[in-house]
Amino acid sequence: MPSLTDEQRAALASVLATGPRVRKLARQFERAGHEFYLVGGSVRDALMGRLGNDLDYTTSARPDEIEALVRSVTSAVWDVGREFGTIACRIREDDGSEWVVEITTFRADSYADHTRKPDVIFGDHLGGDLIRRDFTVNAMALRVSDAELLDPFGGLADLVTEVIRTPAAAELSFSDDPLRMMRAARFVSQLGFHPDPEVVAAMTGMASRITIVSAERIRDELVKLLLTDNPRPGLNLLVDTGLAEIVLPELPALKMERDEHNRHKDVYEHTLTVLDQAIELEKARGHEPDLVNRLAAIFHDIGKPRTRKFEPGGKVSFHHHDVVGAKLTTKRMQALRFSTQETKSVAKLVELHLRFHGYADGEWTDSAVRRYVRDAGDQLERLHILTRSDCTTRNVRKAQALRRAYEELEWRIDELAAREELESTRPDLDGTRIMEVLGIGPGPVVGQAYKFLLERRLEDGPLGEERATRELLQWWAARES
Ligand code: ATP
Ligand code: MG
Repeated sequence: MPSLTDEQRAALASVLATGPRVRKLARQFERAGHEFYLVGGSVRDALMGRLGNDLDYTTSARPDEIEALVRSVTSAVWDVGREFGTIACRIREDDGSEWVVEITTFRADSYADHTRKPDVIFGDHLGGDLIRRDFTVNAMALRVSDAELLDPFGGLADLVTEVIRTPAAAELSFSDDPLRMMRAARFVSQLGFHPDPEVVAAMTGMASRITIVSAERIRDELVKLLLTDNPRPGLNLLVDTGLAEIVLPELPALKMERDEHNRHKDVYEHTLTVLDQAIELEKARGHEPDLVNRLAAIFHDIGKPRTRKFEPGGKVSFHHHDVVGAKLTTKRMQALRFSTQETKSVAKLVELHLRFHGYADGEWTDSAVRRYVRDAGDQLERLHILTRSDCTTRNVRKAQALRRAYEELEWRIDELAAREELESTRPDLDGTRIMEVLGIGPGPVVGQAYKFLLERRLEDGPLGEERATRELLQWWAARES
């Protein structure tokens, strides 16, 4: 068993030294005679030097008492699920730091008695709580009173060797909550760890058990996986174990495909590369991790298996795979209970992902560019990212040519937008104001005055009402004389 490095010890000490209000919270539990531990992802992340603003605790106190104790420190308290024993609160320290704290009553070791299985049984000791956590690296606890690390399942060793392993037997753990199989894939991507062979074997053998889990919980884990910096290994694990076949069958279906040139590169590999590139571009263009962008990358070619045709001469075609893909995307995202907004956005991107390909063949007219912009609507930036990412050819010159062509298109969109903005520019005073200022009725003079003001505006930019009025009167006086 590895012992803590000085660095890890210091990291743990510094979590416990978080501001005075968080410390006061811990004291309240100890004074009331309760055990109080920092636990789960918080301990893991502290040890990895990547603790965010979440602090998860577990305690011997029951939910009602947790709430009373928490209220003595902060009034920002909410109920995450009293029946599950979780109370949450927000604590602001004077230095401006802000913590979202979740406190959960010890769960009992539900593996002890598999015949009687209520959803949640509260327990009286830490050990029972830790064994029913998902993975060993998430099953360590830090006793707040004396900074002692409690690690009955070797989580620290697995953290060092970067392994995802269950505290109890993997099959037992996954049958207790099949969602843990999805979580394994998520942590493989989020932490960059490897799944223990026993975990992979259990996932493979029990994949079909995921069907008892609600679509919403499955979706939430899938979202967390997709929003990591490196979804590829987690997605591969889902596909290799057969879980993807159930939760996202369109993805493994891509594996059977050869690319357009019928070479040995399948659409599945291409799709993962597009996702990698979309994530890189997302960063390069200054965006936060973007779910719609990532889903569009995953789904952009799912219409291919259904539309594949072997043409005479050995060619393969995928006519209308964009339209078919958009339909399949909508169906899958609805089944996974994604919001209407997200579903529409991703489906639109899938449907438009080929549109650019006509561009390289010949220069688009302004109206073709305008239509592209109009059809993309508020998804234009994401369409730029998807279309650019969709180029995965190893032919450097071809890739470069495509990149240049797309650059040119983006440039033309900007230029056109600027020009059209210019065209829609109006003078500072409209016809009615001009007639009021000059004290005249409708007639050709109003048009001349309008043109004068428009020229002045194009020359100098917005003049403002007062200056425009003054210049209009000067123009009028000069004209009269
Ligand atoms: P992050 O917050 O970075 O997503 P986390 O490890 O904190 O990761 P949460 O989903 O916040 O994950 O869960 C908090 C802790 O609760 C986990 O570390 C784990 O100990 C436990 N846990 C969560 N979900 C499960 C589950 N389905 N089965 C068993 N234990 C779980
Ligand atoms: Mg957490």
